[in-house]
Amino acid sequence: ARRKYVVGNWKMNGVTASIADAQAIFAAAGDHAEVDVAICPPFTLIGAMVAAVPGAAVGGQDCHSAVSGAFTGSVAAPMLADAGAILVIVGHSERREGCGESDADVRAKAEAGLGAGLSVILCVGEPREVRESGRAIDYVLAQIAGSVPDDFDATRLAIAYEPIWAIGTGLVPTVDDVAAMHGAIRGALAARFGGAAEDDMRLLYGGSVNGDNACELLGAGDVDGALVGGASLTAAKFLPIVAAA
Ligand code: 13P
Repeated sequence: ARRKYVVGNWKMNGVTASIADAQAIFAAAGDHAEVDVAICPPFTLIGAMVAAVPGAAVGGQDCHSAVSGAFTGSVAAPMLADAGAILVIVGHSERREGCGESDADVRAKAEAGLGAGLSVILCVGEPREVRESGRAIDYVLAQIAGSVPDDFDATRLAIAYEPIWAIGTGLVPTVDDVAAMHGAIRGALAARFGGAAEDDMRLLYGGSVNGDNACELLGAGDVDGALVGGASLTAAKFLPIVAAA
């Protein structure tokens, strides 16, 4: 059985004082032992968060595909592991769109994360005009085909479906649309990799998840958890989502 997985993506939010929020979140998450809870803060807070909450699942929001080198401003996956991270998000739409990352780039980053021993959350999701044109599933399956690496490890690679039009907007897809998309993703990966994609791979939904809609969204077919942005920054907002998982 797949364990529920609720992950906070703090994006470019958080300073040293925010470690107290992470402490509160992880302390209360201990009451929900059936749920895996992780936080991905900015790179600058990874070491401090791991030090403040030993054993907490802390991750990066991106990594470079190379292990080291002349890449000013970038952070390598082994550096995340060295800082105490156990996971990394790759392919977030804010990087695909904002930083011009292609499926091939995302695939290389996923390979780098797995190669460094990290768990990987690989994000996919369609823009609004694609959803409105009725081609969302084809669009996302093309992202899956292009960005999921061949050295697939269902216990360490999770997929997050994040429709771009739902991120930070308060808009969410219908439960039926989420279930249809997740079923299509799982089916495509099961066809490519076999039973582990059926049994072990976790599929997260992301995009305007909050304490009010988490129960419904997390109850949709083939949804194993959530990737949460704005509502992950404080215990008061994040814990109701953990409780709903
Ligand atoms: P919001 O939860 O703020 O909509 O962000 C979702 C997201 O992009 C998580 O990665």
